[in-house]
Amino acid sequence: KQSRICVVGSANIDLTFRTPRLPQPGETLAGHALHQGMGGKGANQAVAAARLGASVAFIARVGNDAFGKSAIEAYQAENIQTSCIRQSVDQPTGTAAIMVDDNAENCIIVVAGANAELNAEDVKGASSLMTNSQVVLCQLETPVDAAVEAFRIARAANVLTVLTPAPAERVTAELLSLCDVCVPNKTEITAMTGQTIETEADALRAAERLRDRGVKRVALTMGGDGVFVVDETGSTHIPAVRVKAVDTTGAGDAFTAALAVSLAEGMSFVESARRASAVAAISVTRIGTQTAFPTMSEVNQLSRLEENVCEA
Ligand code: ATP
Repeated sequence: KQSRICVVGSANIDLTFRTPRLPQPGETLAGHALHQGMGGKGANQAVAAARLGASVAFIARVGNDAFGKSAIEAYQAENIQTSCIRQSVDQPTGTAAIMVDDNAENCIIVVAGANAELNAEDVKGASSLMTNSQVVLCQLETPVDAAVEAFRIARAANVLTVLTPAPAERVTAELLSLCDVCVPNKTEITAMTGQTIETEADALRAAERLRDRGVKRVALTMGGDGVFVVDETGSTHIPAVRVKAVDTTGAGDAFTAALAVSLAEGMSFVESARRASAVAAISVTRIGTQTAFPTMSEVNQLSRLEENVCEA
């Protein structure tokens, strides 16, 4: 049976300019190429969950502009329900201008635009989407008030709440108290707890600090070092699936979406994190963000390959 996920968060257009080198102040440079892609943590998680076969609703804001229209069309092409994406009148669709030079050095400007206008009223107006879901997923590239409202509605309806605490500066005590599953990376957990992560003991200490603030389960993602999961039953380190990484952007979003889908399917926390690691590993082997997210059949193929490796 199809799992039901509701994502509340950001929608961006990413414009990537390839240039021989990064420009100096006042300079005009001829670039090699321009690529337009979709981004924003909210949209990334919605698309990643939909690729895995979940029924996904997305609550967001875009501008009343060409980027906003093309974003909504792209989500619809992924079978994402878009009826609760509002178009702001006087703010543009969130946009990231990304410059990448021949040495892969980059400079990025992000304008939040319409994302900054997502509010608690938008979320209240979409409450049936959340109460009909099994998991509500939030990140913080949109205002924290919207996330708090979403988690309140989800909690009252016994719907699982999952948080990507990024950017970590926006996390509040109230939000953590409403959070069933928190999925930080190392930088974010350090920002939230003051604990730097060098060893497994550090990871456990940091996770326990989040649990003291009301979070029930923590999945700390550590890039190529895998993921450390902590809940009331204890802690487990899950090594990353060994792959040749070519582009890790969006790995965290692929992981979180896959974790949510797996939990909605009734898998245990540890098994969900294992499958999410496989999904994220596939996404880092491909260039791009949303274009790199795998389907469930690709994930199953990878799992079969791994089983064969183990048997051999
Ligand atoms: P991003 O901001 O790039 O989306 P993140 O910092 O939020 O990423 P990471 O901890 O870098 O998240 O990665 C999330 C998960 O993706 C990891 O826990 C791991 O399972 C998987 N992953 C990331 N990098 C690799 C890699 N090089 N090889 C295999 N798996 C990886």
